[in-house]
Amino acid sequence: MRIVVLTGAGISAESGVPTFRDSDGLWEGHRVEDVATPEAYEAQPSVVQAFYDARRSALADVVPNPAHHALAKLEEHLGDDLLLVTQNIDDLHERAGSTRLVHMHGELNSALCAACRRRTAWVEGLSDYPPCPACGSCELRPDVVWFGEIPYRMQEIEDALAEADLFVSIGTSGAVYPAAGFVQVARAYGAHTLELNLVPSEGRSMFHEARHGMAGQIVPAWVDEQLLR
Ligand code: NAD
Ligand code: ZN
Repeated sequence: MRIVVLTGAGISAESGVPTFRDSDGLWEGHRVEDVATPEAYEAQPSVVQAFYDARRSALADVVPNPAHHALAKLEEHLGDDLLLVTQNIDDLHERAGSTRLVHMHGELNSALCAACRRRTAWVEGLSDYPPCPACGSCELRPDVVWFGEIPYRMQEIEDALAEADLFVSIGTSGAVYPAAGFVQVARAYGAHTLELNLVPSEGRSMFHEARHGMAGQIVPAWVDEQLLR
């Protein structure tokens, strides 16, 4: 049984990482257009750097919840037959033990050099424009995929969707493409599709099946069913 799991901000909500569509479309008090677009970074780089520096340092205060742990347990069981794709830029999946993981929207704990395009593991702030370890230029930006930019590792994701028997979408509003379209791709290739979310998402009607509730409860319950198969 090959499974592709897609996660969004909702899986980290119970860890204390706020989602943004649940709070009137604001992300920690900011309009998304003001902090998550290349245009915003060009217009106000210090605002954008400070925003992501704050998100990065906040990771120290949160821990994975039972939903992250359950998906790590599912990987132990399925090995290469599971691919976990996350839209999240936090590091809670890897801290729970997941390794077959694609951060399609980048990672807070990574810096991207605007000069040489090298990606470097990064846990400190970027607001003071430290030099790139690869080329020395002081143009490091958050290694996150902003609106209008192309997500990472799309080919690998599409290949996995084409081979999946089951596609599961967890804690995502279904509003951000291309991730919101994965359900249709997986379905077109013959996968069964399941939504696990607090409430019916915008894409609910595209799934064969849906279960609604807190990720910390419904994800471990679903994983336990898979372990019995
Ligand atoms: P979103 O904020 O648009 O939607 C979150 C979804 O999760 C909603 O449908 C909501 O009903 C559901 N949800 C909320 N609490 C839940 C819970 N306890 N259990 C189950 N479901 C719950 O998030 P999105 O669809 O991931 O899109 C947001 C974009 O913003 C992504 O691209 C992501 O990169 C970014 N973002 C990331 C983080 C993070 O890394 N943790 C946090 C906020 C935003
Ligand atoms: Zn560089």
